[in-house]
Amino acid sequence: MKRKWMGASLVLASVGLLVGPLQGAEAATPKIKVHYIDVGQGDAIYIKMPSGEDIVMDGGNKGKGDALVAYLKKQKVGDIEILISTHPDADHIGGLDEVLDSFKVKSVYAPKVKHTTQAYKDFLLAVKREKLTIKTAKEGVSLPVKGVKAQFVGPIKDYANSDLNNWSAVLHVAYKKNTFLFTGDAELKSEQDMIAKKKTLRADVLKVGHHGAKTSTSATFLKYVKPKYAVISVGKNAYGHPTNEVVTNLKRAKATMLRTDKNGTIVFEGNGSSYTIKKSK
Ligand SMILES: [Zn+2]
Repeated sequence: MKRKWMGASLVLASVGLLVGPLQGAEAATPKIKVHYIDVGQGDAIYIKMPSGEDIVMDGGNKGKGDALVAYLKKQKVGDIEILISTHPDADHIGGLDEVLDSFKVKSVYAPKVKHTTQAYKDFLLAVKREKLTIKTAKEGVSLPVKGVKAQFVGPIKDYANSDLNNWSAVLHVAYKKNTFLFTGDAELKSEQDMIAKKKTLRADVLKVGHHGAKTSTSATFLKYVKPKYAVISVGKNAYGHPTNEVVTNLKRAKATMLRTDKNGTIVFEGNGSSYTIKKSK
């Protein structure tokens, strides 16, 4: 009698695995999706939060806005709850005016530093057209996202006006056990300041600072982040990005490296514990 009961339950269990309610439960698990969009040399990141908020961080260079808008529309983005400009350099801010003009944007975050370039002026004008005021991105500021801890861990200080990279807004995102760190173009000074301030830096997925320039991603910084994956947003460039120094540091840290120039757009999907990774090439 006992043996017969066990047999029946085993059959039921295997049926359940194939077609049963387990699959439905899996599909219903809210997920975080992080898109590192291939915009050539520059950064453009789109995050779909598990509770539905859309976040766009940086928009690639001038001329990349249209392609970025098309990509976001393909992802069925309606409104953008949060738009972040990490810093005013053209390869980050250049396409954001088109994004602002094409979507209803509810809030904009940027570090409190100014720049004189046309790309920066165009961004400010687009923010004005959207009738928004820029909220300051700096350490300690949290983003209003349900079920996810999203907090700026940098910039820590007011750096010199010419030191634009270190002004980069650095965002740490934690959805249960899925963790991401977005560094913009933050360099060694900012890395050291975040370490000294004991900010939460540990992250499974690191968006490598400044396209893999050797002025970012020190071995010390990697000891705090301990990334499993390192994403380098980079295109054809005359700067030698990513540099051998950074590639070596990432290898020593045993991080799996992904690059938008080689892998195209890279999408991390997290269910709160593990990840699936999709690459467009
Ligand atoms: Zn850059």
